[in-house]
Amino acid sequence: MTTNARPYANSYWVEPGRLLAGEYPGDWPASAMRQKLQLVLAAGVTFFLDLTHPNDPLQPYAPVLQQMSKAYARPAVYQRMAIVDLNVPSVAQMVQTLALIEEALAECGVEVITGDGAAAVDAQGVTTASGLRIESNTVIWTAGARAHPLAAQIAGEHDRLGRVVADAFLHATAAPGIFVTGDVAHAATDDAGNVAAMSCQHALSLGRVAGYNAAAELVGLPLHPYRQPKYVTCLDLGPWGAIFTEGWDRQVQMTREVAKSVKREINTKWIYPPAPDRTAAFAVANPDYVIVP
Ligand SMILES: Cc1cc2nc3c(=O)[nH]c(=O)nc-3n(C[C@H](O)[C@H](O)[C@H](O)COP(=O)(O)OP(=O)(O)OC[C@H]3O[C@@H](n4cnc5c(N)ncnc54)[C@H](O)[C@@H]3O)c2cc1C
Repeated sequence: MTTNARPYANSYWVEPGRLLAGEYPGDWPASAMRQKLQLVLAAGVTFFLDLTHPNDPLQPYAPVLQQMSKAYARPAVYQRMAIVDLNVPSVAQMVQTLALIEEALAECGVEVITGDGAAAVDAQGVTTASGLRIESNTVIWTAGARAHPLAAQIAGEHDRLGRVVADAFLHATAAPGIFVTGDVAHAATDDAGNVAAMSCQHALSLGRVAGYNAAAELVGLPLHPYRQPKYVTCLDLGPWGAIFTEGWDRQVQMTREVAKSVKREINTKWIYPPAPDRTAAFAVANPDYVIVP
């Protein structure tokens, strides 16, 4: 993208030069729509994610966009992922999300085999329970997560992953003076029944709060409750791009290269320690610090 100026008034750069958010550009009359699209294309935008629903009373802009973008080196890609206000995603929506993943896998030449188990792995590949042979120099086994065995030494209730059940301040509920965090903590993220996953996203915030509370308890300061109501996922799907979802029901917000640029940001910045600078370190150590705004 070529500029950081706002293409039109009701728009803003979420990530300057990379991710632009703005009001629906399908204006009426057509001349107004063309003008708005012209400004967005001139700003270097190549992927348009339309969050409106086809039934919304709006003027479609995809055909005009596709025709106009032919004048640019990289024709614009248009994709709709409708988000209905205050709605719970339907089965159909979830099917759509899965279809996107399948599309990406197919495009990357990945074949999915279900209902069969790995029976043997050797230097040249895998043999499945049904006798299928898959030749490969590299085999990656992803068989779920478990808490570190040390967690078993902490008294009190443990969940099925071996994590220690924590209270709102991340105390191990039955072991006075012990705080639990990250992959060994079973902690509620909100009041809706959701629990932290064994993930970087949760480990970062859990670590902040547990560390703060351990110090606060020692010096007699009030403790800080752990809360992390926003949950996102960003699934890398190789050359196809990525899928970025929000909410525990995983509503798709971004796909392909747009989501992939977020994934790069996550892997190179968000999950990295802060710069070796006192102010930067204290800023992200704040127990209120939110990783995904
Ligand atoms: C292959 C893989 C891929 C993953 N991909 C993702 C992903 O894409 N997105 C995501 O959100 N999460 C991902 N995760 C999960 C994520 O990495 C963890 O949830 C997160 O790192 C947990 O943080 P933690 O601080 O609790 O534990 P860790 O990061 O595991 O840190 C624990 C530390 O304790 C040290 N340790 C262990 N035993 C002892 C001991 N006896 N004494 C002293 N130190 C000890 C370990 O060496 C380690 O440094 C992935 C995990 C794996 C394994």
